[in-house]
Amino acid sequence: MARIGFIGLGNMGGGMAANLAKAGHDVHAFDLSADALARAKEARCLPVESAAAAAEGAEAIVTMLPAGKHVEQIYADAFFGKAAPGTLLLDCSTIDVATAKRVADAAAANGLVAVDAPVSGGIAAANGGTLTFMVGGSKEAFDRAEPILSLMGKAVIHAGGNGAGQAAKIANNMLLGATMVATCEAFLLAQKLGLDAQTFYDISSKASGQSWSMTSYCPLPGVGPQSPADNDYQGGFATALMLKDLRLAMEAAKGADASVPMGERAAALYEQFAEAGQGGLDFSAIIRMLDEK
Ligand code: NAD
Repeated sequence: MARIGFIGLGNMGGGMAANLAKAGHDVHAFDLSADALARAKEARCLPVESAAAAAEGAEAIVTMLPAGKHVEQIYADAFFGKAAPGTLLLDCSTIDVATAKRVADAAAANGLVAVDAPVSGGIAAANGGTLTFMVGGSKEAFDRAEPILSLMGKAVIHAGGNGAGQAAKIANNMLLGATMVATCEAFLLAQKLGLDAQTFYDISSKASGQSWSMTSYCPLPGVGPQSPADNDYQGGFATALMLKDLRLAMEAAKGADASVPMGERAAALYEQFAEAGQGGLDFSAIIRMLDEK
């Protein structure tokens, strides 16, 4: 049993911290929200009064926060000079690659060891312990992180050095955003050309246009396996979160001088959909906006 600090007990972090406690770890948990702390207590975590208190005496500290600025601030204010030398910092938030690298360098300068370990999978996967982790950091740091992360996930993959986990996450989600838009367009075109949606699915799901967006997450209700489309686009992966990831991808592409015209177009379309007040709907609901055009 290890003492683990956990900061950020929201939609994702709440279930992840609970899974560490369920596995027998001594989880010292902190969040700004009193409700989140109360839920963590019910899940057998020990709520503490600050991020620094969660860091004190911990062998490892997990963060699951909204964005890079929160991670950077908590690392500086609550970990550096306070966590024990050699403490492993696992940031599971989705943040920008530049900040991920910067906080890892700062951690090393302060005698700590950091990995970026963003996740694929939503709230159900966080609660069920079936997330996929993409980890950036040294091999030694990965070997220390892997047993902790595997208590919260079904797959833990070493992507490369610091920042590589975030790079894998945003490149993957840029691909997901673009294939979802393309899948929606293909269904709408096929329908306008007189094809039945199920017939098009039966053909394309076995042909070269096949993708995860089509066969695992079909944007049309009643077609393919159960997906958020069958639940009026409630639940699933919110448009606002897809837009966040696409913006991170665009920022990273600019910094790396990478050409991403399809990613740019997907980001613009998701921005338009979110600005129309649809940010809370699953991202496959963008088919509604495309259908209105
Ligand atoms: P959330 O908003 O539900 O949770 C974030 C939590 O952080 C909140 O409880 C908030 O009170 C807490 N927090 C913010 N600032 C804090 C501070 N200074 N000190 C302590 N606590 C603080 O967000 P979420 O949905 O759990 O997402 C967390 C991260 O996971 C994000 O980076 C998101 O992009 C990523 N992610 C989310 C999903 C998803 O489906 N929700 C999927 C994959 C990745």
